[in-house]
Amino acid sequence: MSRLSHSEIHMVHRIGWLRAAVLGANDGLVSTASLVVGVAAAGSGRPEILIAGLAGLVAGAMSMAAGEYVSVSSQTDAEQADLARERKELAEAPEAELTELTQIYERRGLTADLAWQVAVQLTMRDALGSHARDELGISDTVIAHPIQAAIVSAMTFAAGAIVPLLVATIAPPAQITLFVATSTLVALAILGGLGATAGGAGVLRGAVRVTFWGALAMAATAGVGALFGVSVG
Ligand SMILES: [Zn+2]
Repeated sequence: MSRLSHSEIHMVHRIGWLRAAVLGANDGLVSTASLVVGVAAAGSGRPEILIAGLAGLVAGAMSMAAGEYVSVSSQTDAEQADLARERKELAEAPEAELTELTQIYERRGLTADLAWQVAVQLTMRDALGSHARDELGISDTVIAHPIQAAIVSAMTFAAGAIVPLLVATIAPPAQITLFVATSTLVALAILGGLGATAGGAGVLRGAVRVTFWGALAMAATAGVGALFGVSVG
């Protein structure tokens, strides 16, 4: 069970959201740019490239939303199940629960007497809330919202995916691959740096790491596109 204090949990969640947003944009960028580069390498014209990219944006955003919804829902379900079990234990074995809470406060550094007093007073005020917070690490502010998480995921993915699509729309017809690849690598470096800042890691290392995988993804789809372009054409 989590033993994080309230403010620590809050911090973790805040960083979690920012990193999730950066990761979503990252996914949208890499997958859509790779699609665009692959289709372009097969020798397709701008309309086909844009249709493929747009379909990739929609498919990816939907898939991110669904994945996030399922993941956050199951987390919420697990928290609700924990709370239900706790409620039952409190009703059936209040003495044992009081002892449990006392021991938690003792482990956090209170003397046995004080821990017991705190446990008694908190139990009288809000027994379930105290056990949820101090035993399970669940507080009101961190109960996750599945729909909200799904929408944010879809939107961050789309925000990343729109970049290669816009570039493919305005690039000179013969140079779509070059323009999309270059702009994607620049955007990835910026996102990588941002993600590293959010996670407290080195900016340069974060940027290089993300850019490397983006380059690899585009090289792979360009290879596939070129192979197909040759064999079909
Ligand atoms: Zn308990």
